[in-house]
Order: sequence, then C-alpha cells, then structure tokens
Amino acid sequence: MTLEGFGANVCNCSFESFAMSPFSCSLVDHGTLAVPKFFPFDPTMLSKPLPTSISLSVCLGLSAAAAVLALHASSCKKNNNKTGGKKKPSRWQLCWAQTLGRNSYQLANVRVPVAVFRAEVSACMNVDQEGLVECNITIQDGTIAAIEERTDGGTASSSFWTTVDCHGCVVIPRFADAHTHLVKSQTVPRNRNSTGTMTEAFAADGSDEPRWAYQEDVFRRMDFAAKCAVHHGTRTIRTHLDGCSSPDPSVQQAVYGAFDNIREKYSAVLTVQGVANLYLPLWMTLEATQHADQAAAHPNVVLGAYVGNTADIPPAETLQAMDALLTHAARLQLDVDLHIDESNDPRCCAMKVWCESLKKSRAAGYQGRVVLGHCCTLSLQDAATQAFVCTQLAALGAYVVSNPLTNLGLQDRQGSKPPLSLMIPNDQSRTPQWRGLTLLQELRAAGVTVACASDNVRDQW
Ligand SMILES: [Zn+2]
Repeated sequence: MTLEGFGANVCNCSFESFAMSPFSCSLVDHGTLAVPKFFPFDPTMLSKPLPTSISLSVCLGLSAAAAVLALHASSCKKNNNKTGGKKKPSRWQLCWAQTLGRNSYQLANVRVPVAVFRAEVSACMNVDQEGLVECNITIQDGTIAAIEERTDGGTASSSFWTTVDCHGCVVIPRFADAHTHLVKSQTVPRNRNSTGTMTEAFAADGSDEPRWAYQEDVFRRMDFAAKCAVHHGTRTIRTHLDGCSSPDPSVQQAVYGAFDNIREKYSAVLTVQGVANLYLPLWMTLEATQHADQAAAHPNVVLGAYVGNTADIPPAETLQAMDALLTHAARLQLDVDLHIDESNDPRCCAMKVWCESLKKSRAAGYQGRVVLGHCCTLSLQDAATQAFVCTQLAALGAYVVSNPLTNLGLQDRQGSKPPLSLMIPNDQSRTPQWRGLTLLQELRAAGVTVACASDNVRDQW
C-alpha cells in the first residue's frame, strides 16, 4: 500500500498528518515533535502474508511507531527462510517487546534518515552512506522528548529511563500517503486492463462503476486497504473518491457512505481524507455547486478535478474551468487536489494555466492548500516552461505529488513512441523509454514541497 522505499524521501512530510499541516517542515524539533499516541501494529500479523484483521488497541507511545515497519517485511521474510517457515522474533521485534507496557523509555542506538531533520540541524550531523544518522530517542509519556545524535558511540543510560538497545534498527516517521484510490482498489481480479493503457483504464473504470452502488462492496475494499495501510505504517491517507460525481446518485451515496464509515472506524490510528473530483470542464456547470456542497458536508473532504488532456482545448477555456473550481473552493474554504497533466502528450501543460488561475485566486485571498498530482507532462516541456512552472508553483505555495508506481507503467508501458502521444500496436515488441515521472528534483530545488504516493493498488490503472 505504501511506497516504503520513498518513505525517507518524502520531503518535509509532517510526522503527524498533512491534514494539519500538509508536508510541513516541522518534522524534527526536539521537544515539540507531534507523536502518534498509538502504535497500531500487531506483531501477530507478521506470520500472515496479508492482514485480515488488525488490533487497533495496541497502545504504545509513539515511538515504536516510528516504525520499524520498514524493517518488518524484510526481517520477517529472512526469518521465515532461516527457520523453515517457523516464526522467530526479529531484532526489532525483540527491541519493541521491551517497550511494551511502558510509556517512558529510551530507544538507544537507532538510525534515523537525515531527511527528517531540519536542514540547520542535519548540517552538522554525521550521516552514513545510506543517509542515516545514529541517534538515541527518548520517549516521555508516549511522546518523543528528545532525539539526540549518538556522538560517543555508547548507549546513554539513566536510572530513570528504561533503555532499549536497538542495535542500529532504522526508525522512520509513519507515512502520509497523499494520493490513493481506495474506492476502486482490489478490483483488478474482476476487471483487468489488459493493454495497460490509459484508454483501457478509462473503459474499465466505467464498466466497474455500477458495482460501486453497493456500499458493502466499496466498504469491504476500502476497509482492506485501510488495514493494509495501517499495518505497513501509514498514519494519514488521502483517497480520491471515485464515483462521487457519478451520474448515478446511488453510487455517490455508497462512495460517501463507505468513506464516512472508514474515516470513523480508523480515526484513532489513521487520518483518512477524501477528494471530491469532477472532470474539470464540469466545474463550469450548474451541477458543480451541488457537487461542491456535497463534498463540504463530509468531514475531511476537499475539492478536486480530473483535468484531463488539455492539448486540444483553448487555454482560455481551461482557465475558466480552473477559475470556477477555485471559486467554489474559496466559497467553501476548502483545499484543492488535482489530477493534472497525467498524460504522455507533450502538447499538454495544464499546470501552466493552473499557475495563472491560482495566482488570481491567491490575489483574491484564497489561502487553501493546493496539491497537484501526477504532473507527468511537465518533464516533456521546454526548459523555459519547466522553469516557469517550477518557480510559479513555489511562489504560489502548491505541493506536487508524484505517483511513480502508476506512472512508471501507465505512461509508457507499451503504448507510445516519439512523439510520445503516438500509440504503438500491442503486438510490437518495445522496451519502455519515457517513464512518466514529473520533475521532482527541479521542483524541489525551486522550493516546491514534493512527495511520492501510492496511487492505484490493484485496480485498472
Ligand atoms: Zn490518481
């Protein structure tokens, strides 16, 4: 569910939740770090390939949280191999067991990714070749009281604290998964995208959507996704609410109903947010008001748009639709999250138009948070356009979320060739070349906060 490999690279991502301060820079500040109160990880799940239930009541001060989780998969696998399938506690599990029942203790000899420290703090740290810093973490009353770099190589001891020697285990913040589609997760067994193209993904979406009118179906799959997310260390998850703008009101109701139930069910351990998307041009229609009002009636839901390929649409028209979306967002004081430039067409650069629209909206006083998802075609623009968009987004305070697992395949799996929008027949062998990623490094260098998210999990995309 979570892109674990990117966990440490999620730039400036808030420990607690991007609901409170999306991708804020306040990660590690000794003494003030926000800490999850629960450690929702049930070690009995380790012997199971996928969790079907999870104990949400395992209460531990943060800490643990920290999450060890990155290690869990590999250590579990290793142990199973070594012991012929018999479960044997791994190193981190033994450490973790020593913290059970305690609210104050020290995790000594852990390694923390340098990426989670503020620049002024990390500048004078000893960082190893893997980007990790040896630290001791003091937990007081379930909250991180201090994270100190181990400079003497020894284990700090105190008669007051129980000290747990973690033998170099990696400790990372829990994940904020900023872009997912839980409504249609796990639908691939019943509805495959055999060509791996966007065209077929759209078609498959359409053929599966009538099933989303059954709230039990949507809830069951969202529930499984949420369990997996919690199990693997996610603290906050944002899901796009596919179907919430369906022409069938029963689909809308089922999607919102399932979302509300999931949000409530997991509220103690997982912040669940939703995005109420509408195809961008529809924001100029009358139905947009009802769509936006319905979104505003549900806690934790923001407004969104599937921008689509704007290459053949006059920029003024695209601008008008974006203005309409932002007008509703300002009216309801809601944040905005877009699917934008998710294409392999170099003629498409809706982000440039978005900069113009958001600039006007900011000037008019709109202060909502704005997340742009995908942004694939930015990497196909000329250098001047790329620089313009990067600097504008930084100035306007927008966030960019890349979804590599989906876009590495979807934008050039088998389907396109230079110029990139030309399709290649399925029976023609060809190695993918352009992989659909946005300019993460350039955006970050320009001052834009960037992150990577899971996006689609076992659906048609
Ligand atoms: Zn998406």
